Amino acid sequence: MRILVVEDDPDLNRQLKEALEQSGYVVDTAFDGEEGHFLGDTEPYDAVVLDLGLPGRDGVSVLKGWRAAGRDMPVLILTARDRWSDKVEGFDAGADDYVAKPFHMAELLARLRALLRRASGHASSEIACGPLLLDTSAARIMKDGIPLKLTPMEYRLLAYMMHHQGEVISRTRLTEHLYDQDFDRDSNTIEVMIGRVRKKIGKDLLQTVRGLGYRLGPSEDSG
Ligand code: CA
Repeated sequence: MRILVVEDDPDLNRQLKEALEQSGYVVDTAFDGEEGHFLGDTEPYDAVVLDLGLPGRDGVSVLKGWRAAGRDMPVLILTARDRWSDKVEGFDAGADDYVAKPFHMAELLARLRALLRRASGHASSEIACGPLLLDTSAARIMKDGIPLKLTPMEYRLLAYMMHHQGEVISRTRLTEHLYDQDFDRDSNTIEVMIGRVRKKIGKDLLQTVRGLGYRLGPSEDSG
């Protein structure tokens, strides 16, 4: 899952990036409204954390711009404490949730997990797929009740595919959602990683759909 953080306070921006990375997400950051708007408009994020008080272009205007252009990723806004009008304006602009500053990081992370789950059609904090169980709050995946030993990248790959199980996902889409904007993207890396994950979960569960990509889930046919 790839997250965009738009926050002009450098300390808070760094804290958010670190906390999100520790939770298994890949993170891009922006420090003003123009840069934030550009990234959200051009890159495929799974969710955005957007401060409303930004230099250059304020968060409400950034969000309105994305929604007007049809960008529908979940957006969690950061509002100033006691500014109820900020929240109203934010929701009217297309926000999905908010936290008021100062906030507890654990609450922000929980709200973000809920947004990500709902965006992919899952209501519960645990997502099952055959013998696999993803516990989104612990950032852990189990197979038949036993935690899998996964590298951070393998976790990201499998967690993304579990959120989107049953869908055929192209290598390009995986690359876009598993790496940040600075990564030198090489889709062969994805193929190697798929191979490693397949070894850990069993090869039937993660199928190659020739010419199109990969699909996670019980096999539709044995042909
Ligand atoms: Ca601010």
